[in-house]
Amino acid sequence: MRLVICHLYPDLMNIYGDRGNVIALAKRCAWRGIDVAIKNLGLGDRISPGAYDIFFMGGGQDREQIMVSHDLCETKGESIKREIEEGACALVICGGYQLFGKFYRPAEGKEIPGIGVFDGYTIAGKKRFIGNVVIESCLEGRRTTIVGFENHSGRTYLGKKERPLGKTILGYGNNGEDKTEGAIYLGAVGTYLHGSLLPKNPALADFLIRKALKRKYPGQQIAELDDEIEYLAHEHAIKRAKRTH
Ligand code: GLN
Repeated sequence: MRLVICHLYPDLMNIYGDRGNVIALAKRCAWRGIDVAIKNLGLGDRISPGAYDIFFMGGGQDREQIMVSHDLCETKGESIKREIEEGACALVICGGYQLFGKFYRPAEGKEIPGIGVFDGYTIAGKKRFIGNVVIESCLEGRRTTIVGFENHSGRTYLGKKERPLGKTILGYGNNGEDKTEGAIYLGAVGTYLHGSLLPKNPALADFLIRKALKRKYPGQQIAELDDEIEYLAHEHAIKRAKRTH
């Protein structure tokens, strides 16, 4: 078995260890004997149909988001949307998450268009939402907590197409008002949680791997891993979040 990860704009969109998510996906595949190729795609690169199983994009500030928005809308947006409809999966964090929605309206300057994988949109607020986050989520019927770190001024309001990734227990989440955090539409997951997120949230990592395999190798199960260390990190992050709120 072989999966191909498309890392979108690794040089422009990568803060607070976002890149570690790609490493975690690749490692969890390798431990199960699944081959992984990681392809970095930057400005101007196009997406060949069916070439990628998992798309990943990290966070970035407004300046990077403007550059990436132009390129996404011109060269990649329609292809990514089609791939998601056809069963590819995606993990997009913070600034990347905002660009997978309809638009991001910064405090100053023009609205930054997104590609609309999600129906939601984002508007900058005055106060920055910074801190440790714990959410409660349900991934393919499995209940799990997800932990991470948020730092954003954008408030995201979800649309009809997607559901929240989870309910915010500690932290601000999408907008600090409705207790939602992140978004899921088919295999596409958006979230404000940096981290790296996946090393300490193995349930989310495996959700993405399962989704990616489902399209390419229907019926294929994945082996459970010994996640003792991962869950120690997970529990530690929950304790720290409780302490800091
Ligand atoms: N510009 C966005 C915000 O502050 C994204 C920030 C980020 O990716 N950390 O809302």
